[in-house]
Amino acid sequence: MKAAVLHAVNQPMTIEQIEIRKPLHGEVLVRTVASGVCHSDLHFIDGLWPTPTPVVLGHEAAGVVEEVGDGVTYVKAGDPVVLSFAPFCGNCRDCVTGSPHLCTNPSARFPAGAGAAPRITWNGNPVNQFANMGSFAEYMVVPEGGVVKVPKDMPLDKAALVGCSVMTGIGAVLNTAKVVEGETVAVIGTGGVGLNVIQGAVLANASRIIAIDVLDNKLEYAKQMGATHTINAANEDAVKAVQALTGFGVDYAFEAIGNVKAATQAFNMVRRGGTAVIVGMMPFTSTIEVPGAAFLGEKKMIGSFYGSTRFRVDMPRLCEFYLAGKIKLDELVTRRYELGQINEAFDAMKKGEVARSIVPISA
Ligand SMILES: [Zn+2]
Ligand SMILES: [Zn+2]
Repeated sequence: MKAAVLHAVNQPMTIEQIEIRKPLHGEVLVRTVASGVCHSDLHFIDGLWPTPTPVVLGHEAAGVVEEVGDGVTYVKAGDPVVLSFAPFCGNCRDCVTGSPHLCTNPSARFPAGAGAAPRITWNGNPVNQFANMGSFAEYMVVPEGGVVKVPKDMPLDKAALVGCSVMTGIGAVLNTAKVVEGETVAVIGTGGVGLNVIQGAVLANASRIIAIDVLDNKLEYAKQMGATHTINAANEDAVKAVQALTGFGVDYAFEAIGNVKAATQAFNMVRRGGTAVIVGMMPFTSTIEVPGAAFLGEKKMIGSFYGSTRFRVDMPRLCEFYLAGKIKLDELVTRRYELGQINEAFDAMKKGEVARSIVPISA
């Protein structure tokens, strides 16, 4: 099968012919239908986060189950699925207390055992699957806990987005922060995740939804997704502008870039008792600074991973929301690229030209 391989950081990916083995115990073979191009992959391409190479990147995908290994009961051949980059085991403390996204049980990732043959190889040598997935490939062998069934009528190119940016953004609002109607929300960064924070705030019936970015074209996308106010932080101080709009600051500020300065700004723009939610992926060794005295005002700063998703409940629900016209996914996809144009897709993302791009992949 064809796959885009990153051989070393800071290099373009190349399309290679890769061997993929059959699914073993607890594993599923999925034919990739579409993969989103997510900013998090870029952190690994640029070396801001470490990853062993060679690696097949891509972690926002949907496809169709082709074959299952023994012991698999949740899915069967023909089922449409969204892929999850955080497979869960279903048995550990995190899984049984409603936080399967925090599962770290190794058996969730390698149900066939750590000593099983590598899932993908190139010229006989093992290739890493980014996030247990590697969706810039025609097929993926993944653990059973890394797939989520979706409604049969859900278009899979849209379902792919649910696998990362949509779940991460909407889930940060509804599951992690639990914003309720009438509360005020600011979001710093209006890329794929930030736009979905805005959609989540619309679903929660937030009163003011303030979008902050440094590019006017991205702020335009933000308005289309439901932002009530926009601030171009290249032209004015975002914290002061939010204070001016709200009087005391917002109830919740979401950092959706992965930038330490933006995280400090998010904390500084929430009111006393308010909460800054860090959604963006911070550089691996970074440190965030916040004014210590503000904690006497009961300000909070919390992390959010994968929208605190309960995979098998939340992901099909987001698909139902799309099918019912309650969330926008068509508008998120601003470009489509072939697998062979994968490097161009990341270049366009770096320049801030796109909201979200999609790579349609079918073998
Ligand atoms: Zn992602
Ligand atoms: Zn678990």
